[in-house]
Amino acid sequence: MANIAFIGLGNMGGPMAANLVKAGHKVTGFDLVQASKDAAKADGIGIAATATDAVKGAEIVITMLPAGKHVLSVWKEVIPSVGKNALMIDCSTIDVESARHAHDHATEHNLPSIDAPVSGGTGGAKGATLTFMCGGDDHAFALAKPVLENMGKKVVHCGKGGAGQAAKICNNMILGISMIGVSEAFALGEKLGLSHQALFDVASTSSGQCWSLTSYCPVPGPVPASPANNDYKPGFATALMLKDLRLSQEAAKAAGAATPLGGHAESIYEAFEKAGHGGVDFSGIIKHVRDLAK
Ligand code: NAD
Repeated sequence: MANIAFIGLGNMGGPMAANLVKAGHKVTGFDLVQASKDAAKADGIGIAATATDAVKGAEIVITMLPAGKHVLSVWKEVIPSVGKNALMIDCSTIDVESARHAHDHATEHNLPSIDAPVSGGTGGAKGATLTFMCGGDDHAFALAKPVLENMGKKVVHCGKGGAGQAAKICNNMILGISMIGVSEAFALGEKLGLSHQALFDVASTSSGQCWSLTSYCPVPGPVPASPANNDYKPGFATALMLKDLRLSQEAAKAAGAATPLGGHAESIYEAFEKAGHGGVDFSGIIKHVRDLAK
């Protein structure tokens, strides 16, 4: 069992750190918010006074923070205090460039590092069923895999440093686009007099089949567990989907890739957020799609 430092004990990091405690690790955490620290303490996580204190004696350091600037600032702050050969893991969703800078910084200090963003949301974080998408060299991945398996059910090595973030934003760009597509189909079906169940029964077993339809259907009824049945409470909030679509568009611009539908999906979610729906589940975009016809 390892000594693990966990920085960023929010909606995702808190339950992930708790699962490391359940697996028998000694976890010392830090967050800026008192309520997150209190909740983590109740889950058996030792709370340090600063991020630098949290990493002292740690064999593994994990960060789960909002954006690239937070990850770079915390990694720069703590790396000088991290022990020789400690493994650096960032599980946040951040831009590919910042992820690469974080790896470079660890390499300058001879520390192995992995970018390991997750899919699966807060339910996956609590239930230890996350999917981890990892970028880094083979040695760092081999070190990271067993500890990530304490927090998830699938750990995929996607390539060198930054490849985990690349896989994450490509996946979520598909998700953002496909949810709008499924929402447009239901909005059109409504105008054509089709029942939601009839369209679902056909499309879910036809070539329109996709995860946004069969696991996360944006209308109530056909998929009882989808947020549409719970007044579009997240789930996965619109603000987070917009964040990931923005990251995909920044990456596309930097890499010279054409992603016209990704760009359009970003502007549609942006309009929905600007109308005050950032906290609504991203499948609530069907309301925005219907409103466009008014
Ligand atoms: P959150 O806002 O609940 O948690 C982030 C935590 O980081 C907060 O508690 C904040 O106080 C802390 N923090 C910020 N700066 C800090 C610093 N300098 N030192 C210590 N702590 C600091 O966010 P979350 O939902 O837990 O998401 C974390 C990351 O996971 C994000 O990058 C997000 O995009 C990604 N993600 C979230 C979900 C989801 O469903 N919530 C799903 C997949 C990926």
